[in-house]
Amino acid sequence: MSDYVGRLAPSPTGFVHLGIARTSLVAWLDARRHGGRLLMRIEDIDGPRTVEGAADEILRDLEWLGLDWDGAPTYQSERSDRYRDALARLGAMGRTFPCTCSRREIREASSAPHGPTESTGAVYPGTCRDGARRRPDRTPAIRFRTEPGDRVEHVDAVLGAIDQDVHTEVGDFVLLRADGLWAYQLAVSVDDLEQGVTCVVRGADLFDSTPRQKLIRALLDPNAPDLDSVHVPLVVDAAGQRLAKRHRAQPIRTLGRSPEAIVGWLARSLGLTTEAEIRPAELVSAFDRARLPSSPTALADDA
Ligand code: GLU
Ligand code: ZN
Repeated sequence: MSDYVGRLAPSPTGFVHLGIARTSLVAWLDARRHGGRLLMRIEDIDGPRTVEGAADEILRDLEWLGLDWDGAPTYQSERSDRYRDALARLGAMGRTFPCTCSRREIREASSAPHGPTESTGAVYPGTCRDGARRRPDRTPAIRFRTEPGDRVEHVDAVLGAIDQDVHTEVGDFVLLRADGLWAYQLAVSVDDLEQGVTCVVRGADLFDSTPRQKLIRALLDPNAPDLDSVHVPLVVDAAGQRLAKRHRAQPIRTLGRSPEAIVGWLARSLGLTTEAEIRPAELVSAFDRARLPSSPTALADDA
């Protein structure tokens, strides 16, 4: 039995479209090829964006495609205690601080407006780090306090090396939002660590989050196994737009195709087969993560 533990981590904010199906297929193949375990974790911490019933539909759609997982699904919405505990531990290390800045204030104060990450698109300018300019009349968010030296090197199986200075390139990022919602970076790091995940397989849009997650992981458990990753290039539409839930991505169930035809399209788009129709299990023995394409795939008309 291998030590590999992977996970499927869908957010129940919509239905399964080809992009999610493709990433899930790769996660499944990588875990099965390694003889590892694959967990199912529903990432439903974003209450306002969570769609009623979507989690069950996602599970059903992935099963319909021929994917499975080991053990019962876990739900991030039931794990707040773990996130609170991790936040307190990071706080005890001097690694958190409350921040009352609005998005607009951060945008306006930031000297590096093209930072890669936060929803503001800006590197946090450090306004509340020392507390002097914190606004007592506002409910704070809790940020991770980055420090000089918070530099993370990582090699992804598909996208190759990233060498990120989290302090200067990302800045202090949010762990707990002012509205009380747990931030993705904290929840995913805590869960991957506590669930023994050794490899994350997910969309390439999350590649630059990996250094932040490795940073949190190393602080919470210096003995944690190094995190392995496979970032799968996105499926884009004819205009080159990311096939996200917010765009006009079709649910796979409404494409009028059999699961074998959909898996066939996905597998061909990844260079895994030349068959038009195939089941996931038939792809396992020849699967090689090192041969996955590293650039986005455009959605073909015949999909
Ligand atoms: N829940 C995230 C999503 O559906 C994936 C997070 C991850 O794999 O780290 O986009
Ligand atoms: Zn602030």
